[in-house]
Amino acid sequence: MENNYVVELKDVNKWYGEFHVLRNINLSVSKGEKIVICGPSGSGKSTMIRCINRLEEHQRGDILVKGLALTSDLKNIETVRREVGMVFQHFNLFPHLTVLENCCLAPIWVKQLPRREAEEIAMSFLERVQIPEQALKYPGQLSGGQQQRVAIARSLCMNPQVMLFDEPTSALDPEMVREVLDVMVELANEGMTMLCVTHEMGFAKQVADRVIFMDRGQIMEENEPGQFFDNPQSERTKLFLSQIL
Ligand code: ADP
Ligand code: MG
Repeated sequence: MENNYVVELKDVNKWYGEFHVLRNINLSVSKGEKIVICGPSGSGKSTMIRCINRLEEHQRGDILVKGLALTSDLKNIETVRREVGMVFQHFNLFPHLTVLENCCLAPIWVKQLPRREAEEIAMSFLERVQIPEQALKYPGQLSGGQQQRVAIARSLCMNPQVMLFDEPTSALDPEMVREVLDVMVELANEGMTMLCVTHEMGFAKQVADRVIFMDRGQIMEENEPGQFFDNPQSERTKLFLSQIL
């Protein structure tokens, strides 16, 4: 490995058919770094995040996770998916499995852990997100905030090197946003490497090392949160901030 970046994007370009959705994206994420990504709807934030664990395929440039290049090599994709945790806007829990089973699935089937051990690990993470008492319930019996905390715990059970969040609180009722953000702040304080697409600017100010503004498939601006919010450089960043703050 030539450096210590956990995630590296080098001149990444992606098209959906004719539509150029990611344009020359360059981004290097160090171990323990927290990056918040914001920008208007349709600017390519989800696409970029999804490319990092190959839920989407890029066409040009390089994406490396811990130095391993994401190509069509299935072995690399499998390795990278073990290292990269992902939390979606709509939780994406398996509705027919209990909370505990949701958390144990990948550790048992991907990591081949014995069930007992997987359950112990799962319970320890459910305790960390403060819902151990929900372990035997089904996702549909939980509130949105609780489901999202399960989704975070489920990712953590794989011991990922980096966590990707794609608008984890934007499908939640307002009173549940805080409980999910609190878990994310705690994770950040514990040193997790994180890329978070979110418009929760309080969160960005609290934990981000860098805030990235995307527009029309490009990284338009990037700065530490103090500068980003108090002294935005481009007109588009200013306009965007004036709309959300
Ligand atoms: P964001 O997360 O910033 O809102 P997305 O990455 O979801 O943006 O989408 C960027 C653009 O790509 C949008 O214009 C969207 O309509 C388009 N797009 C997203 N997914 C697909 C797809 N699977 N096929 C074609 N176009 C897509
Ligand atoms: Mg999106």
